[in-house]
Amino acid sequence: MTGLDATLAEAAEATDANLLLRLDDLTAGYDGVAVVHGVDLEVRAGEVVALLGANGAGKTTTLLAISGLVPRMGGSIEVLGQAVHERRRRSVADVWRLARSGVAHVPEDRGLFFDLTAAENLRLGRPKGGDAVPEAQLLEWFPALTRVMDRKAGLLSGGEQQMLALARAVVGRPTLLLVDEMSLGLAPIIVEQLLPVLRAIADETGAGILLVEQHVPLVLAIADRAALLRQGRVTFSGTADELAARPDLVEAGYLGA
Ligand code: ATP
Repeated sequence: MTGLDATLAEAAEATDANLLLRLDDLTAGYDGVAVVHGVDLEVRAGEVVALLGANGAGKTTTLLAISGLVPRMGGSIEVLGQAVHERRRRSVADVWRLARSGVAHVPEDRGLFFDLTAAENLRLGRPKGGDAVPEAQLLEWFPALTRVMDRKAGLLSGGEQQMLALARAVVGRPTLLLVDEMSLGLAPIIVEQLLPVLRAIADETGAGILLVEQHVPLVLAIADRAALLRQGRVTFSGTADELAARPDLVEAGYLGA
């Protein structure tokens, strides 16, 4: 092996050590009907990857397949170097197991317990005996939670609920964070506040973040890479800057042109 080969091999190994999620030719769907086809996707430590596409493109299905909640019909999913087999992760208990293994999934409906206070919801995300993110740090990322900690989650505004869902997901220091439709029902000004927080979480904790988001220019401004899904297939995969420079591709992805 030449010196250059050795350096390249070392670089490849270092890159792979940072690989948190790898989808290889993933096909997944419901009741034997595939809705995502041949999806390749990677997320590395400290990276924010935006998963984009029109309603029904298959973004939620892709995240659910990664969490093992939708059957994988072909291809492979590797999370933190382990293959995900859907049959072993079909229950709520299995989702908690996944969380303990370092993957946190913020679903579209945010998954909060509305009758519990914000503080109690946060407590549920805290790892038992583990190394939780201190509350002061959480409140630095999500300052609006400071004044609502004693309020029931069901009484919070949409923005506060989303902040709480994100705080609960990150309190256990996930290695990989999956966030579905973060801005659903939120005013754009809240989205503008929250996206840089996700960037900061990736930068400061080294977590890899896979983010489904409809505010395309806003998310491309904070993401490292992006994948565009159209009718269940990846029509673009590259850096966020490359996609930001191709509004035609984004438009085609969303308008079906
Ligand atoms: P949205 O932004 O509307 O959530 P999406 O890109 O996340 O869109 P998915 O929710 O993954 O899209 O849906 C992809 C396809 O799978 C759609 O055609 C949808 O109707 C179908 N689908 C979603 N959930 C189910 C389900 N539980 N059973 C059967 N088909 C489903």
